[in-house]
Amino acid sequence: MRIHHVRRLSQTYFLILFVFLCAVTRLGTEWTQIRAWPVNWFLQLNPLSAVGTALGTGTLFAGLLWGLVTLSATLLLGRFFCGWVCPFGTLQHVLGWLGMRRKSFSQRVAANAYHSAHRLKFIFLFMVFGMACGPLWTPDRWTSWSSAAKTLGLFTAAAALVLGTASQGNAESGKRPSRLEDGLTGAAVFLFGLTLARFPVAVGSLQTGLLDPIALLQRSLNQVLFPAFGLFQPEGLAGNRWTQGAWLLGAVFLAALGLNLVKPRFYCRYLCPAGALMHLVGRHSLWRMTRITDRCTDCKRCETVCDAACRPSMEILSGECTLCGNCLVVCPEKAITYCRAPLPAKAAAPGAVDLSRRQVLVALGAGLFAAPVIRLDGLSQHRFPPNVIRPPGSLAEPEFLRRCIKCGQCLRICPTNVLQPALWEAGLEGLWTPVLDFRAGTSGCQYQCVACSRICPTAAIRRLTVDEKHGTGAFADRGPVRLGAAFVDRNRCLPWAFGKPCIVCEENCPVSPKAIQTMETLDKLPMPPLRVTAREDNRWIVDGFRPVEHRAPLESLWLVKDFGNPSFQWPIRDWGDGWIEVSYTDPKGHGHAATIEKPEGAVFLAVKLKRPLVDHARCVGCGICEHECPVRGVPAIRVTPENETRHPERSLMARQPSGTF
Ligand code: SF4
Ligand code: SF4
Repeated sequence: MRIHHVRRLSQTYFLILFVFLCAVTRLGTEWTQIRAWPVNWFLQLNPLSAVGTALGTGTLFAGLLWGLVTLSATLLLGRFFCGWVCPFGTLQHVLGWLGMRRKSFSQRVAANAYHSAHRLKFIFLFMVFGMACGPLWTPDRWTSWSSAAKTLGLFTAAAALVLGTASQGNAESGKRPSRLEDGLTGAAVFLFGLTLARFPVAVGSLQTGLLDPIALLQRSLNQVLFPAFGLFQPEGLAGNRWTQGAWLLGAVFLAALGLNLVKPRFYCRYLCPAGALMHLVGRHSLWRMTRITDRCTDCKRCETVCDAACRPSMEILSGECTLCGNCLVVCPEKAITYCRAPLPAKAAAPGAVDLSRRQVLVALGAGLFAAPVIRLDGLSQHRFPPNVIRPPGSLAEPEFLRRCIKCGQCLRICPTNVLQPALWEAGLEGLWTPVLDFRAGTSGCQYQCVACSRICPTAAIRRLTVDEKHGTGAFADRGPVRLGAAFVDRNRCLPWAFGKPCIVCEENCPVSPKAIQTMETLDKLPMPPLRVTAREDNRWIVDGFRPVEHRAPLESLWLVKDFGNPSFQWPIRDWGDGWIEVSYTDPKGHGHAATIEKPEGAVFLAVKLKRPLVDHARCVGCGICEHECPVRGVPAIRVTPENETRHPERSLMARQPSGTF
C-alpha cells in the first residue's frame, strides 16, 4: 500500500467519524445518541479554537488542550491535520480532484501554481486574532500580578507568532528583514496595544468560528444538510427541524465547496485561518517534504498533483504543504522525500508566504480596531434587543461573545429546536450564535433540560445542573436561572382583548407554583339587556331572544342580574329561540333553573373569563407559554430578556436588590 492510499484511508476514517459524531449529537440513551461520545473532539482538535479563546478570555479550557496536541504534532510532522484528518479538507480534496479530472497537464500545473493571494488566509487569521485579543489591554487584566503575568505571557506568544510570520522573508524575493526591523515591529505592536488600553471599549470578540473549517462543516451538516434531508433527527420531534437563515449557511457551505472545482483546496489555500495557523507552526516542522535537487529533472509531474500549491518542483513551501504525499508517488525520479530536514538558514526560507510585516500589522490592527467599533452599537452591553434570549447558563453577553465559536453544537443538541442561529439580531459579531426562538421550535426551553450547557466546548454556556437551573437544593438561595420574563400583550390576548376564554399559557407554565396566575372576571357582552317573562319547567322564557354568535363556549356564558352579587349570576346550560336554561348550584352542589324564581327586571348576557397575569418573581422565561399561545402571528404572551439572571443590569426598570422586578 502506498502512502496516498494510507492517507485516503485516514481521510475516509476521519470523515466518517466526523459525520457519525454529528449524527449522535442528540439526546437519548441508544448508542446512536449522545451518551459518552466525544462529540466535540474535532472542534477541540482544531488549535484555532484553543488559541482564539485563550486570546479572548486569558484561559484555556481543558478540552481545548487537544488543540495544543495538534500544534505539537504539527511542529514535529508538518500539517498532517489538514491533509490527513480535517473532514472539510477531505471534502475539498474530493471536489478538487473532480474539478481537475479533465484538465490537461499544463492546466493542472497552472491550477496548482502558488499565488500571492495565499496570504489572504493570514490576513483573516490576524484579523480574527486581533479582534479576540482586545481584552488583553483592558485595565482589569493588569490589576494583579497573576493576571498581568498571564496577559503578558499570552501577548508574548501572540507577538512571537506575528513576528514569526513575517520574519522569515518572502517566498518570491527571499528577502529577510533585519533584527532592527524585527525589534521595531515588536515595539510598534506593544505601543499600539498600550494605547488601545486607554479606550473604554477595548473588547474582545471571538470570530474564529466564522471561517473555522470544523465549525463551518459542523454548522452546515447540523443546521442545513441533516434537517433538509430529514437525517439523524432527534427522536420524538414532530416534523422537521427549522433553521433561521439556513439559506445563508447553505450558500456559504456551497460556495466553500464549489470553489474547489475551480481551484483544488480553494478554501485551504486562500481562506482557512486554521490552515494559516498550522502553516505558521508547520513551516518549522522537524519532518518535511524535501526535494533532492540533483535527482530532479524538472518534469513538473509533482506540480500536477499538488493541490496545496506548495511548489514541490522548486523550494517546497513546507508551511503550505498538507502532506498529501501525491508528489512522492508521482515523481518518477524519487526526487521528493519526506524526512527530517534542517531548516535552511536565512534567505529564501521554505514555507514562508508573501506576507509583509506591514500586512500582518495592518490585519492585526484592523481586528483590534474592528471589535470595539462593531460593539459601539451597544447591542451587547447597553441596548438589549428584545429577541436576543440566550440559552440557560449563557455568560453575560460580552463574555459570551468572547467565547462562542458558532459551532452550533448547542443548536443541534436542543431537543425542541428552540435554539436558532442568530442572523443580525445580536449584532454583526453575534452572527450564528444561539438565540431562542419560541415560535420556531416544538416547545420552549424544557424545564428539566440542561443539554446545551453540557455540550458547549468553550463554556460560553457554562455547565448547569438541573438543581441550579431550578434554584433548588444547594442553589435555593440564588433562585432559578432566568432567561427573561414573559409579558402578556393585552391587545392580543384572547381573554383581555377579545373576551374569549383561554388559559393555555397558564396550563402550560412548567414552574411550580405557576408563574402565570389568572384573574377571574365576568364581562357583560355588548348587547341590549334582556327580560325574563316567565318560567316553563327548567327554562326561562325571554321574549325576542335569539342565541348569540359568540366565540366563547356556552359554558363560559352567564346570565347576570347583578354583577356585584354572585347570587344573581347564573351559568347558562342551554338556550334556543326565546328561551334560556340556566343552572343553579345550591350549597350541596346540585340544582338547576327550575329551583329558582325568574328574575325581575333587566338581565344581561356575560362571559366568565380567566385573564392571565405574570408573576415575574417566578417566571423563568422558558417561553413555553409563548410557544403554546394560540394567537397566530405575533403571540399574545411574549418573552423578552429583561430580568435574565446572567446580566444584573437587565432588570426591567431600575436595578432591584433581588434581581427581579
Ligand atoms: S436547556 Fe433549553 S435551550 Fe438548552 S438544550 Fe435544553 S431545551 Fe434547548
Ligand atoms: S454557545 Fe453554542 S454555538 Fe457557541 S460555542 Fe457554545 S455550543 Fe458552540
